This record gives sequence, structure tokens and C-alpha cells, in this order.
Amino acid sequence: MRIAIIGTGYVGLVTGTCLADFGLSVTCVDQDEQKINLLNSGGVPIYEPNLEDLIQKNVFAGRLTFTTALEKAVKESKVIFIAVGTPPNDDGSADLKQIETVAQQIAYHLNEYKVIVNKSTVPIGTAAKIKEIINEYQTLSHPSSVISDSSSVIPAKAGIHPSSPSSLRGEHTQNFLPLQGGRIKVGVKHPFDVVSNPEFLREGSAVYDFTHPDKIVIGTDSDRALKIMQEIYRPLYLINTPFVITNPETAELIKYACNSFLATKITFINEIANLCDKVGADVHQISKAMGLDGRISPKFLHPGPGYGGSCFPKDARALCHIAENFGYEFKSLKAVVLANNRQREMMVEKITHLLKDLKGKTIGILGLAFKQNTDDIRESSSIDIIKMLLQEGAKVKCFDPLAMKNAKKILPDITYCENEYDTALGSDALIIATEWNQFRNLDLNKIKKLLKNPIFIDLRNLYEPSQVKALGFIYEGVGRR
Ligand code: NAD
Repeated sequence: MRIAIIGTGYVGLVTGTCLADFGLSVTCVDQDEQKINLLNSGGVPIYEPNLEDLIQKNVFAGRLTFTTALEKAVKESKVIFIAVGTPPNDDGSADLKQIETVAQQIAYHLNEYKVIVNKSTVPIGTAAKIKEIINEYQTLSHPSSVISDSSSVIPAKAGIHPSSPSSLRGEHTQNFLPLQGGRIKVGVKHPFDVVSNPEFLREGSAVYDFTHPDKIVIGTDSDRALKIMQEIYRPLYLINTPFVITNPETAELIKYACNSFLATKITFINEIANLCDKVGADVHQISKAMGLDGRISPKFLHPGPGYGGSCFPKDARALCHIAENFGYEFKSLKAVVLANNRQREMMVEKITHLLKDLKGKTIGILGLAFKQNTDDIRESSSIDIIKMLLQEGAKVKCFDPLAMKNAKKILPDITYCENEYDTALGSDALIIATEWNQFRNLDLNKIKKLLKNPIFIDLRNLYEPSQVKALGFIYEGVGRR
């Protein structure tokens, strides 16, 4: 079976590569020419453990290709996955422009029955919207075939093609407002189904997660599409992966419910940790005890500087917004969003409290990525904390094993170091901001000699407070001292 993946980012590239490894023929499409050229020359635009090897293996086997040519990929494929971005708008709602554009592009090139699978995280009703867009656009000729006879094309302001979906009125239609000489109705309608198949992989273990998922969620009203989806995921049946088969709206909400619940769990333990700081309790013991309760589970009970990344922050905000659109105020989730923002500020307060005044102080930061094993710095708490420290007049030196290249684009004026020890050298305090494994076994005696003041602030609770203090450090974690 031939598959096209539109959008070759974290999700699209991992999905495409892993499906190719399942034995399917996969074409990964992206509009970013640089990304596709890099992939075609053997490079990999993101870091994910084992991804590079898997790409090489499947490209070599002839099952995985990369292209910017969406039309060809759509025409040749039976199943088209959409894996483009759904970034947040200023009001927290999900921006669906990329999804709408891709749906429109797919519509132009439908040439037989196809299954369109949405893997992006999208508001409830988006599968229906994709269906509506494809239905309406697939009978229109492609804009490139517009006859540029100015006498027969009415000015853009004068009207909108009656069959243009309201969501796409405006810029998409202005260049090809049709009368007799403009875009024409071609009248051919091919059947298709839209499936919602949200993705639950975690950056930093994306290949493993895709190939060993806790669940596969398939939202569809079509038996025909369901059979094709089951065929695609057949290798996962063999390892007894549970499948949740439901309607598209439920599948869409499942994704937001999972991410928002995890964001809530993290925020809850962060607030317990903040309380521990006030009352002198130890959050590690509390997490352990809570995790031993079978109803709670030990995962996502690690306190820290607040959740970040490309998913939890935007998905929690988007779900608040979705609820509002349906006339419901999601009070607990709104509180989570506020508490998570405050968590970063509380970390800066912690640093300020230990250093007295930040002005002119040099702070060494270990970790820029929003979590370990990724180069992704989107909504990273470390980056937000650095920005606040700079605002308070501090100087920042930092080190991250993978994320410095990305960080330099948004924080060009801080000092990037070779390693952990270079970061400690001459700093007034050392702060662990990301839980990289290599930060877990630092030579603390060496660090102490390199620091101006022996202040060690462990925002990921990687160290045992008593052991660090025994070496003569002033130590503070999150919810434990
Ligand atoms: P990304 O920004 O890394 O990748 C999106 C890609 O789509 C980019 O390479 C972009 O160039 C491409 N693109 C946009 N418009 C296009 C078009 N018209 N034609 C071809 N390519 C186009 O995004 P991501 O992190 O992979 O996330 C994709 C979706 O998956 C989002 O909805 C996200 O919420 C969801 N998701 C992400 C993760 C994650 O960990 N990153 C996990 C689960 C779900």
C-alpha cells in the first residue's frame, strides 16, 4: 500500500519512517524545500533517538522517499496522512490554516478513492471540516489552470466563488475568482473518507512510542476506511496494541483529554512541591507514596519548572478555547494553564531568593530543551526562565547537549558553553533546567571549584539534597532541600 505523509516535522517524519519500516511504501511531503533537500542528502532535520538509522534503512530499501511534489504523492497514494502544524493563535485557539490549505491541495488532486487521515492535533469537528473542504474543492480546477484573461475575471473585491467554503474565503480565492474564463467546475467527484487518528508519541522517544504505543485511536464513520487503517497498523495488532475505534469527534477530543490530563497531573505535583517548599516536606516521598496508589500511577509525578514543549501548553489552552466555543467554561484546566505560567516565575523567585539580587550576576544554566533527548525548545521552561533572568539584569551562560543550535536563533546574546564545567566556570550559581541524563552525574567537587559561589539549584530534582549539601553547596530543588 502506498502512503503519503503531508508535513515532515516531528510527527510526520517519525510516522512516515515507522510506517515504511512496517513494510509500506511511504512518500513524505513537505513544502520546506531545505528540509526535503537535507533529507534527500542523508541528513535529518530533527533529533530523535534511532530515527536516523531507521530513515537510512528504509530509504536504502526503497520504501521511503522525500519530496516537495504534493500532487504526485497524493495521486499515487491510497492513504494520505496530514501531519502539519496546528500552532496556537494569540487567543489560545488552534490555528488551522495549514490543515485547511492541505485539505484544499488534496482535493485538487484526488483521482480515485482515498483515505485522508488526520494525525495533527485539531479541535473537535475538524475531520468534518476537512471533508467539507475536500468536497467543495475537488470539483474546482487547480488555481494553476486559471485562464488569465483579465476581461473575464472579476476583481477580487467583487465577490467570492459561491462554492468556496466560508473558512477559505479571502486570500485563497482572490486570484482565481471565476466567471467563464476563471476557474471552472470540472465536475469529477471521487469518493474519499476522512479519519481522525491522533498521535500520542513523545518527543525524545518518538520512534519507540510509535512502534510500541499504549493505544491506537481511530475515529471514522466508514467501514471501508477502518479496514484500511487496520491493515496499516497490522504490525501493532501482532504486539497486542489496544485499538479504540470511535467516531472522529471522540477521537479528536481523546487527544486533547490525554494531553490536558497529563498537564494537570504535572501541575498538581508542581503545586504540591511548592507547598513542600513552604512547609519543609519532601515532594519525592509524596510522589512515591502517591504513585504507589494504583489509582494514580507513578508517571508524570515529577515536579519541576512547569511543563513545556510543542504540545501540552498549546493543547491545554486550545481545549479551554474549544470548551468556551461550545459554551462551557473548563475551570480546572484554565487554572492549570495559569499555575503552569506561574511555576516559571516561582523558579525565578527561588533563584533570586538565593542570589539576593540578580543584577550583574552570572547564572549558569544546564539544559535548554523542554525535556531530555530532544533539540526542541518550543515553550521550554528553561528558555522562559532565561528570558526572565535577563530582564532582571543577570548574565546567562548555558549548555545543552542538543538544543543550543535552536536556542541561538531566539537567544543570540547569551553565552553558549562547550560543556557543563565551562558553564559553571565563574558563575554565581549553577541551575539544572532540563533533566538530561548526563547532568545526573556531574563531578560536583570540580563544579564547586569552578563556581564563584557554591549555589546549586536543581529544578529537576536530579540530586539527593543531603549529598550535595555535604559537599558544601547551598542546594535547592523543587519541593525538597
Ligand atoms: P512541525 O512543525 O514539526 O511539522 C509540521 C510540518 O508541516 C513542517 O515541516 C511544515 O513545513 C509542514 N507543512 C506545513 N504546511 C504544509 C503544506 N501545505 N504542505 C506540506 N508541508 C507543510 O509539527 P509537529 O511537531 O510534527 O506537529 C504536527 C502536528 O502533530 C501538530 O498538530 C501537533 O500538535 C501534533 N503532535 C505533535 C507531537 C509532537 O511531539 N511534536 C505529538 C503528537 C501530536
